Amino acid sequence: MAKGAALPFHRKKLVLVLSALRHFRDELREAGYEVHHRVGASYADGIRDWLRDHPDDRVVVQQPTEWGIAQSIGTLAAEDPRVEIRPDQRFLVSREWFTKWANGRTLFRMEDFYRAQRKRLGILMETPTTPAGGTWNLDAENRKTATALRKRGLPSPPLAFPPDALTREVMAMVDARPDHWGSTEGFDYPVTRMQALAALDDFIKHRLPDFGPFEDAMLAGEPVLYHSRLSVAMNIGLLHPLEMVQAAEAAWRAGHAPLQSVEGFVRQIIGWREYVNGIYWHQMPSYRKVNYFGFTRALPRLYWEPEVTDMACLRDTIATVREHAYAHHIPRLMILCNFAVLTGVSPGALSDWFWAGFADAMEWVELPNVVGMGTFGDGGLMASKPYVSSANYINRMSDHCGGCRYNPKERTGADACPFNYLYWTFLDDIRTRELDVGERMAMPLRNLERIPEAELAAMHVEREQFLAALEPERTGWVFRHDEG
Ligand SMILES: Cc1cc2nc3c(=O)[nH]c(=O)nc-3n(C[C@H](O)[C@H](O)[C@H](O)COP(=O)(O)OP(=O)(O)OC[C@H]3O[C@@H](n4cnc5c(N)ncnc54)[C@H](O)[C@@H]3O)c2cc1C
Ligand code: SF4
Repeated sequence: MAKGAALPFHRKKLVLVLSALRHFRDELREAGYEVHHRVGASYADGIRDWLRDHPDDRVVVQQPTEWGIAQSIGTLAAEDPRVEIRPDQRFLVSREWFTKWANGRTLFRMEDFYRAQRKRLGILMETPTTPAGGTWNLDAENRKTATALRKRGLPSPPLAFPPDALTREVMAMVDARPDHWGSTEGFDYPVTRMQALAALDDFIKHRLPDFGPFEDAMLAGEPVLYHSRLSVAMNIGLLHPLEMVQAAEAAWRAGHAPLQSVEGFVRQIIGWREYVNGIYWHQMPSYRKVNYFGFTRALPRLYWEPEVTDMACLRDTIATVREHAYAHHIPRLMILCNFAVLTGVSPGALSDWFWAGFADAMEWVELPNVVGMGTFGDGGLMASKPYVSSANYINRMSDHCGGCRYNPKERTGADACPFNYLYWTFLDDIRTRELDVGERMAMPLRNLERIPEAELAAMHVEREQFLAALEPERTGWVFRHDEG
């Protein structure tokens, strides 16, 4: 549990990792393997202790997915020839391939990377160089709103896996730990390979066909919608990315799912997922410190205790994360990160919260998503613009505003939605500081010119009042980034 104490990790995340590990151990034992399960102060210490007690053994390790752990095990392997590190099998793109691709580029655009993977892996291709359906990207067809989603109706919820005796044992162990977020109650994630395969099958059958069109929509109290909820299984090695995209492609070829959904799903996996892993290894360790805007605010308390805010979108999204350790991509980006950027939260503090709070969070994936894509902390290496918006976007893509005490159309006054004055004053700061935020912000910055000076000044006053009232995060929780 040493690693589990590094952050106030969500209890469901601890159960996921610890239970899956124990199930794997038992499956191996049943298959006749001799398995030694050790708990050490750190991974490197565990190996060191083993070799001290078994001097004639050697230890083969898969490349760790976390930079700090890779460093300490790398040091150990350099000192001790009995330790051998083998390439990571959980990704489709090796770190060496990414480095070659990245060399000589100043901007790492995902679209170029994605097309190269489609060709290299032969996924959704008509010929070795022509994409299926004649186009690489069907995103333009995939932006349906919350209203359209309500009309379409909801799919069956993802397959749930109620805890067995072993998982219940782990839940009791995790419940006994005081300094963690969320609850173990309602834990239903897959913890075995068989369960993960059943979850994949369930997604392909019931949600993949509508995945594309409704990818960006959000509904209060409905976290999964047409998403897969498979990152949790994939990130702990219960599913391999290749089998997932092959299953999706087979569904398209069999006429079960349209290309716009299958291409959207394939893009997430062989595009975004592999790309952020590549960025992580290419940019570490300096990526932990990036902060393009120079934000210093501590994480507001509402991220841990959503009931302290009356902003319905934030309250609902954070309450959902606290309950399930999950939210889909758009609430993570356009509500949680959007608010943090508009209020000037330090990217590192936000990244810690994401790492602790989500069941699928590991540093290799949450860090680039938070500091690169979510907060523009790397100054545009990864994202072509800061992903910020006013209430307009949230109102169009979700149903949160209907149940909110604020008015998404008002920019000033007692009922004005904070996202509005925070957004326009943030753009004003960018203009004043003459920051380079990419071509795609040219239009919003032109729209800023149309706002009367007096109204903009009033928005600045409201922002100051709002920020002064934002409570800082609760204290007393431990945040350690050592090797663990
Ligand atoms: C601020 C922020 C933080 C994030 N933190 C994490 C994280 O800690 N762990 C994590 O796995 N994903 C993270 N993501 C990416 C994405 O939001 C999740 O992978 C996705 O929401 C998981 O839910 P799902 O399995 O239902 O995904 P689906 O919508 O069903 O997508 C299918 C799969 O595509 C992959 N994927 C999609 N987008 C990304 C992406 N940007 N980066 C990496 N993989 C992607 C995931 O493996 C996912 O399971 C983050 C995104 C943002 C904006
Ligand atoms: S009105 Fe503003 S705060 Fe309320 S739900 Fe809509 S975007 Fe969020």
